[in-house]
Amino acid sequence: MEQSKKNIDIIQQWDINNTWALFLDRDGVVNRRRIGSYIMMVDEFEFLPGVLQSFATADKIFSKIIIVTNQQGIGKGLMDENSLNQIHDFMISKVKENHGRIDKVYFSPYLANSNHLMRKPNTGMAIAATKDFPKIRFKHSVMIGDSATDMEFARTLGMKAVFVGMPEEMDVSKELFDVAYPSFFDFIKDLNAIVVNL
Ligand SMILES: [Mg+2]
Repeated sequence: MEQSKKNIDIIQQWDINNTWALFLDRDGVVNRRRIGSYIMMVDEFEFLPGVLQSFATADKIFSKIIIVTNQQGIGKGLMDENSLNQIHDFMISKVKENHGRIDKVYFSPYLANSNHLMRKPNTGMAIAATKDFPKIRFKHSVMIGDSATDMEFARTLGMKAVFVGMPEEMDVSKELFDVAYPSFFDFIKDLNAIVVNL
Protein backbone atom coordinates (compact mmCIF):
# COMPACT_ATOMS: atom_id res chain seq x y z
CA MET A 1 0.00 0.00 0.00
CA GLU A 2 1.16 3.49 -0.79
CA GLN A 3 2.61 5.31 2.26
CA SER A 4 0.19 8.25 2.19
CA LYS A 5 -2.80 5.91 2.06
CA LYS A 6 -1.29 3.90 4.93
CA ASN A 7 -0.95 7.04 7.03
CA ILE A 8 -4.56 7.99 6.40
CA ASP A 9 -5.73 4.48 7.39
CA ILE A 10 -3.77 4.66 10.65
CA ILE A 11 -5.02 8.13 11.57
CA GLN A 12 -8.59 7.15 10.73
CA GLN A 13 -8.41 4.36 13.32
CA TRP A 14 -7.51 6.83 16.07
CA ASP A 15 -11.03 8.22 15.83
CA ILE A 16 -10.03 11.76 16.79
CA ASN A 17 -12.77 14.08 17.98
CA ASN A 18 -12.94 17.50 19.62
CA THR A 19 -12.11 16.12 23.08
CA TRP A 20 -8.54 15.33 21.93
CA ALA A 21 -5.43 17.33 22.79
CA LEU A 22 -2.54 18.20 20.48
CA PHE A 23 1.00 18.40 21.90
CA LEU A 24 3.73 19.89 19.73
CA ASP A 25 7.45 20.18 19.99
CA ARG A 26 8.60 23.68 18.96
CA ASP A 27 11.96 23.74 17.14
CA GLY A 28 11.74 21.87 13.82
CA VAL A 29 7.95 21.59 14.02
CA VAL A 30 6.65 25.13 14.51
CA ASN A 31 9.79 27.10 13.63
CA ARG A 32 12.98 26.45 11.72
CA ARG A 33 15.71 24.88 13.85
CA ARG A 34 19.10 26.55 14.22
CA ILE A 35 21.45 23.61 13.86
CA GLY A 36 23.90 23.51 16.74
CA SER A 37 22.43 26.65 18.27
CA TYR A 38 19.31 28.08 19.92
CA ILE A 39 16.66 30.61 19.03
CA MET A 40 17.75 33.33 21.40
CA MET A 41 15.67 36.28 20.25
CA VAL A 42 12.43 37.03 18.43
CA ASP A 43 14.32 37.98 15.23
CA GLU A 44 15.65 34.44 14.97
CA PHE A 45 12.21 32.83 15.21
CA GLU A 46 10.96 31.82 11.75
CA PHE A 47 7.69 29.91 11.32
CA LEU A 48 7.99 26.91 9.00
CA PRO A 49 5.85 27.02 5.82
CA GLY A 50 2.14 26.38 6.40
CA VAL A 51 2.43 26.35 10.19
CA LEU A 52 0.22 29.38 10.87
CA GLN A 53 -2.49 27.96 8.63
CA SER A 54 -2.10 24.58 10.36
CA PHE A 55 -2.73 26.11 13.79
CA ALA A 56 -5.95 27.64 12.42
CA THR A 57 -7.08 24.18 11.27
CA ALA A 58 -5.95 22.54 14.53
CA ASP A 59 -7.99 25.12 16.46
CA LYS A 60 -11.16 23.61 14.96
CA ILE A 61 -10.16 20.01 15.68
CA PHE A 62 -8.48 19.91 19.12
CA SER A 63 -9.75 20.89 22.56
CA LYS A 64 -6.26 21.85 23.77
CA ILE A 65 -3.12 22.79 21.85
CA ILE A 66 0.04 22.63 23.94
CA ILE A 67 3.72 23.26 23.14
CA VAL A 68 6.34 21.23 25.03
CA THR A 69 9.87 22.41 24.33
CA ASN A 70 13.33 21.60 25.68
CA GLN A 71 15.35 24.81 25.93
CA GLN A 72 18.66 23.93 27.52
CA GLY A 73 20.15 27.17 26.16
CA ILE A 74 18.81 28.61 29.43
CA GLY A 75 20.55 25.96 31.55
CA LYS A 76 23.76 26.70 29.66
CA GLY A 77 23.44 30.38 30.45
CA LEU A 78 23.25 31.33 26.73
CA MET A 79 19.84 32.96 27.08
CA ASP A 80 17.45 33.89 29.87
CA GLU A 81 13.82 33.10 30.59
CA ASN A 82 12.86 36.64 29.78
CA SER A 83 13.97 36.36 26.14
CA LEU A 84 12.34 32.94 25.87
CA ASN A 85 9.06 34.36 27.14
CA GLN A 86 9.29 37.17 24.59
CA ILE A 87 9.79 34.62 21.82
CA HIS A 88 6.78 32.65 23.04
CA ASP A 89 4.61 35.77 23.33
CA PHE A 90 5.52 36.56 19.71
CA MET A 91 4.73 32.98 18.60
CA ILE A 92 1.39 32.90 20.42
CA SER A 93 0.28 36.30 19.12
CA LYS A 94 1.19 35.49 15.49
CA VAL A 95 -0.75 32.22 15.75
CA LYS A 96 -3.72 34.08 17.20
CA GLU A 97 -3.58 36.77 14.47
CA ASN A 98 -3.85 33.94 11.97
CA HIS A 99 -6.93 32.45 13.65
CA GLY A 100 -5.07 29.69 15.45
CA ARG A 101 -4.56 29.00 19.14
CA ILE A 102 -1.85 27.83 21.50
CA ASP A 103 -3.34 27.16 24.93
CA LYS A 104 -0.05 26.97 26.78
CA VAL A 105 3.71 26.65 26.27
CA TYR A 106 5.75 24.49 28.65
CA PHE A 107 9.52 24.74 28.42
CA SER A 108 12.34 22.88 30.09
CA PRO A 109 15.46 24.94 30.89
CA TYR A 110 17.39 21.93 32.20
CA LEU A 111 20.54 20.49 30.65
CA ALA A 112 20.35 17.30 28.58
CA ASN A 113 22.65 15.42 30.97
CA SER A 114 20.46 16.32 33.99
CA ASN A 115 17.84 13.69 33.04
CA HIS A 116 15.40 16.07 34.72
CA LEU A 117 11.79 14.95 35.02
CA MET A 118 10.73 18.15 33.24
CA ARG A 119 12.95 17.50 30.21
CA LYS A 120 11.76 15.33 27.29
CA PRO A 121 11.85 12.35 26.87
CA ASN A 122 10.77 12.47 30.53
CA THR A 123 7.11 13.25 31.03
CA GLY A 124 7.05 16.18 33.49
CA MET A 125 5.80 18.80 31.03
CA ALA A 126 2.83 16.61 30.04
CA ILE A 127 1.97 15.94 33.68
CA ALA A 128 2.08 19.70 34.31
CA ALA A 129 -0.35 20.18 31.40
CA THR A 130 -2.87 17.80 32.96
CA LYS A 131 -2.71 19.80 36.21
CA ASP A 132 -3.58 22.96 34.26
CA PHE A 133 -6.08 21.19 31.97
CA PRO A 134 -7.55 18.22 33.87
CA LYS A 135 -9.64 17.02 30.90
CA ILE A 136 -6.55 16.04 28.91
CA ARG A 137 -6.24 12.27 28.39
CA PHE A 138 -2.89 11.07 27.08
CA LYS A 139 -4.48 8.22 25.11
CA HIS A 140 -6.61 10.89 23.43
CA SER A 141 -3.62 13.06 22.62
CA VAL A 142 -1.36 13.44 19.60
CA MET A 143 2.29 14.42 19.96
CA ILE A 144 4.12 15.93 16.98
CA GLY A 145 7.91 16.15 17.06
CA ASP A 146 11.06 15.96 14.99
CA SER A 147 13.33 13.98 17.31
CA ALA A 148 13.59 10.62 19.05
CA THR A 149 13.09 12.28 22.44
CA ASP A 150 9.71 13.60 21.29
CA MET A 151 8.64 10.18 20.09
CA GLU A 152 9.82 8.49 23.32
CA PHE A 153 7.89 11.10 25.31
CA ALA A 154 4.75 10.25 23.29
CA ARG A 155 5.28 6.49 23.61
CA THR A 156 5.82 6.59 27.39
CA LEU A 157 2.60 8.57 27.83
CA GLY A 158 0.54 6.46 25.43
CA MET A 159 0.02 9.35 23.03
CA LYS A 160 -0.19 8.96 19.27
CA ALA A 161 3.27 9.74 17.91
CA VAL A 162 3.59 11.80 14.72
CA PHE A 163 7.12 12.30 13.43
CA VAL A 164 7.80 15.26 11.15
CA GLY A 165 10.88 15.46 8.95
CA MET A 166 13.20 12.71 7.75
CA PRO A 167 13.38 9.79 10.24
CA GLU A 168 16.62 8.50 8.66
CA GLU A 169 18.27 11.91 8.93
CA MET A 170 17.34 12.27 12.60
CA ASP A 171 18.25 8.66 13.41
CA VAL A 172 14.75 7.83 14.62
CA SER A 173 13.66 4.21 14.30
CA LYS A 174 10.24 3.43 12.81
CA GLU A 175 9.08 1.65 15.97
CA LEU A 176 9.10 4.97 17.79
CA PHE A 177 6.27 6.62 15.86
CA ASP A 178 2.86 5.83 14.37
CA VAL A 179 3.08 7.99 11.25
CA ALA A 180 5.71 10.22 9.63
CA TYR A 181 5.06 13.36 7.59
CA PRO A 182 7.34 15.95 5.99
CA SER A 183 5.79 18.70 8.12
CA PHE A 184 3.10 19.74 10.64
CA PHE A 185 1.25 21.19 7.64
CA ASP A 186 1.17 17.86 5.78
CA PHE A 187 -0.13 15.99 8.83
CA ILE A 188 -2.87 18.54 9.54
CA LYS A 189 -3.97 18.47 5.89
CA ASP A 190 -4.60 14.70 6.08
CA LEU A 191 -6.17 14.91 9.52
CA ASN A 192 -8.51 17.69 8.44
CA ALA A 193 -9.67 15.69 5.41
CA ILE A 194 -10.44 12.73 7.69
CA VAL A 195 -12.26 14.75 10.34
CA VAL A 196 -14.35 16.60 7.73
CA ASN A 197 -15.41 13.27 6.20
CA LEU A 198 -16.56 11.74 9.49
MG1 LIG B 1 12.55 19.70 17.80
